This record gives sequence, structure tokens and C-alpha cells, in this order.
Amino acid sequence: MIENLVREEIKGFKNYEVHSIPYRYKMDANETPFELPEEVIKNIQEIVKSSQVNVYPDPTAEKLKEELARYCGVVPTNIFVGNGSDEIIHLIMLAFINKGDVVAYPHPSFAMYSVYSKIAGAVEIPVRLREDYNYDVDSFIKVIEKYQPKLVFLCNPNNPTGSVIEREDIIKIIQKSNGIVVVDEAYFEFYGNTIVDAINEFENLIVLRTLSKAFGLAGLRVGYAVANENILKYLNLVKSPYNINSLSQIIALKVLRTDVLKERINYILEERKRLIKELGKIPGVKVYPSKTNFILVKFKDADYVYQGLLERGILVRDFSKVEGLEGALRITVSSREANDYLINGLKELLL
Ligand SMILES: *Cc1c(COP(=O)(O)O)cnc(C)c1O
Repeated sequence: MIENLVREEIKGFKNYEVHSIPYRYKMDANETPFELPEEVIKNIQEIVKSSQVNVYPDPTAEKLKEELARYCGVVPTNIFVGNGSDEIIHLIMLAFINKGDVVAYPHPSFAMYSVYSKIAGAVEIPVRLREDYNYDVDSFIKVIEKYQPKLVFLCNPNNPTGSVIEREDIIKIIQKSNGIVVVDEAYFEFYGNTIVDAINEFENLIVLRTLSKAFGLAGLRVGYAVANENILKYLNLVKSPYNINSLSQIIALKVLRTDVLKERINYILEERKRLIKELGKIPGVKVYPSKTNFILVKFKDADYVYQGLLERGILVRDFSKVEGLEGALRITVSSREANDYLINGLKELLL
């Protein structure tokens, strides 16, 4: 009986699956290897006490918005905080997408653009990246002219390829589009270039950011959107009242006020350089350039490598069954120790 009650879009729908596989080194989800900063850990009891969990959290996360606004160089009314940027993608669909509206996004890219499009009943237009995984801007322009998408996603830098789209090209796409253009900057801190400064120039631009990656707070679920008030008004209209819990609000705020970020990013960038160099020495391995904290790598036999790494306790992300990513594994740049362990494992398997 229940089957007949389910929305048409949800029948036969398969959501994003996360498997629990035992590991020693987790290099599959682009998290950082760092714990909470020392000064936050030191004061954690006071921080938890001051969070007053017996009362509902601040529904609009005012203090956190102020700190994020400072970080982004905008005003707090240009910030919307979500339960991870995943929630914000969902809320954008809820506010703007009617059944049958067109959503365009790069392929291969972040899986959730498609997942939430399906739940919303959107018509999806995946726009293929080039053979080398660089953006094909002309393809995007053609898709925009032909289908007039209500929503266009650009992931910059792109997950899982590590490739980027240049500012002039983003602007070209925004100017062509009559719908909303979402630029997902989840990996901004590892890249350094942003389009955040253009939110007041372009009424239809939403920039997505997250504290899950460079800030190392994936478990707290804090993402944010930067956009003009005209758009954010509608996200505020459809959100659940208390979408960010009190502990996440206060710990995120405290972490934003520490100064560990730069040092941690430099560590990851150094390790990325070292990993790319070491991977390049292994024959039969194709390494793609990366502006993020992960590296896309192609192997002749990705199954053999994936399983071999797993047997050694190293968990990486297998993309080899995804159309356009045949042979590819995505490796998160982690601690020096983990990265060394990975390189040794690969050498054992392939030399
Ligand atoms: C990790 C990731 C996100 C999701 O971040 P959360 O804030 O943890 O939901 C969004 N977009 C991209 C491209 C990502 O890689």
C-alpha cells in the first residue's frame, strides 16, 4: 500500500550511498586529518556549557553569520547558514525548482546536484567536461541557450576532478543565464580564487562554501551560502527554523576565531605536491592536476589497486564505475604518515 503513496519522483529512486568500511587511514571523503584546534579543545567544557542546549538554538545563527561575513568580506545579510552545504543545495531546489524545471551541472562532478534534482523532479542536463576534465565553457553556453535552465551548478574547483573554471568563464555563464547560477566553492581555501565579490553585481549568483573541508568540521555539519539578500530571502523562507544545532554554531564560531587555518592549508598543499610527485614516479599511473585537497588518479586496473589498498587499511574513493571516470580513484591528501603509507602501499602493488 505504501508504495502507492510515494511521490512519483521517489519511486525507484536511489540515494547517495555511504558504506561503512573498516580503515586505518581514511582518504576517501576529502576530510582533513586535523583535530579541533588546541585552544578550542582546552576550553571545550566552557564552550559546551555556554551553548545552553536546554533552549532552542539561534534560528538564524547570527553570531556565526557575523564571523563568516568577516571571513568572506561581505555583510552578515549576505550569508545563509545550512546544515552542511548539502542542505543548502536541497533548499535551493525547494525554493526555486518546480517539477520539470531544467537543472544543468558539470559531469563528472559532485553527486548531490543530481540527487537533489531527482528528488525535486527536475529535468537534468549533465554537461560533460573535456577529456582532460577541464570545463567546456562553450558546451555550458550552448546548454543555457537551448534549455534555459532554472538552475546551473558550477563546482569550482570541481570534485572529483580537481579542475577549475576561470572567473571570466563563470561571468560569461552568469550573464547568459536567466536562471540562478550556483558556484560551489567547497574547496576554495585550497585554491584561493573566489567569485564571492560578485554577489552584488549579479543578482542570480549563489556561492556555496562549507566548514567541512579546509576547516575540518565535517562532523558539525555547517555550510553557508553567500549571495544577495533578494535570493537569501527565499532560502530563509523554506528552511527549518533550527537547522544548525547550538553546539555546531558555537564550536564553528570558536574555530573560525582561531588562526590555525593558514598553517593547516599550507601543510596540505605541501603534502599534495609531494604526493603528486611520488605518484608520478609509479609507472602506468595517470595523475591529474589538482587545486584541492584530493587527487584524481587513473590506474590500468583500478579494482586491483582499490582492493589492495583496502587490504592495507587505506580507504580511497572508487570512481572507476562512473561514466567518464573509468579507471579513476580519488585520493584525499591526508597526514604525512597516511600519505607515506599510501605511497608505500601503491609501490608494493604496482612495482
Ligand atoms: C564536500 C562537498 C560539499 C558538501 O559539504 P557539506 O557542507 O559537508 O554538506 C559540497 N560540495 C562539494 C563539491 C563537496 O565536495
